[in-house]
Amino acid sequence: MNDRLADNLQQVTAEIAAACVRAGRSPNEVTLVAVTKYAQLAWVRQLVELGVHDLAENRPQQFAERAAQLPAEIRWHLIGHLQRNKVKSVVPRTTLIHSVDSLRLLERISEVAAERTLLPQVLLEVNVSGETAKDGLPAAELKAQWDVLQAVPHVQIAGLMTMAPLTDDPEAARPVFRALRELRDELARRAAPQTRLTELSMGMSGDFGVAIEEGATLVRIGSRLFEGLDS
Ligand SMILES: *Cc1c(COP(=O)(O)O)cnc(C)c1O
Repeated sequence: MNDRLADNLQQVTAEIAAACVRAGRSPNEVTLVAVTKYAQLAWVRQLVELGVHDLAENRPQQFAERAAQLPAEIRWHLIGHLQRNKVKSVVPRTTLIHSVDSLRLLERISEVAAERTLLPQVLLEVNVSGETAKDGLPAAELKAQWDVLQAVPHVQIAGLMTMAPLTDDPEAARPVFRALRELRDELARRAAPQTRLTELSMGMSGDFGVAIEEGATLVRIGSRLFEGLDS
């Protein structure tokens, strides 16, 4: 057992709890999703033994390989760009797809789900900052397409996801996180009764405290968990 990994996990968990206290929220409202894309399989196994059962990969290929090698009780999250030709391999094994960034992709997920009588949970990825290089639906487009998106059958839109611009200053991410929450609130007011937009996937290693203060329910943390481990 690698002590460093246990220490890192303990620190991250403590910081999540502290952010919840600052925000007057219950720690039960926030799920740590461990991003394992750069982690060795042995470390991931240890993390599972330490009790972390929500794991995320950003590439469908590595996700499929690891899902086959790790215990079945793991809840797998897909957080990276998903191509429509990969949907079939991904949908049956994911708990939550965070990175749905177009109506076409949502419709493809719906098709696959219908064939297999599944009801996948997804998040819509939003490009809040409007940077052209970023993945995600621009907020204006999402608002304009909302009625069409939420009418797509065989999928459950559970909330929104975003990536803040990378900076050294977590406060720089706050306006982005706040904007995502406000967008969620606005869409929730225009939602059909069966649509419950409870999830906000935002915050990574450098800014998860701020994200929790702004309402994150899922924080996606990679490097903070695995830093300092020898490869
Ligand atoms: C890699 C990745 C993360 C985790 O980033 P860290 O800074 O290592 O915590 C979170 N979200 C997405 C979409 C990622 O690709």
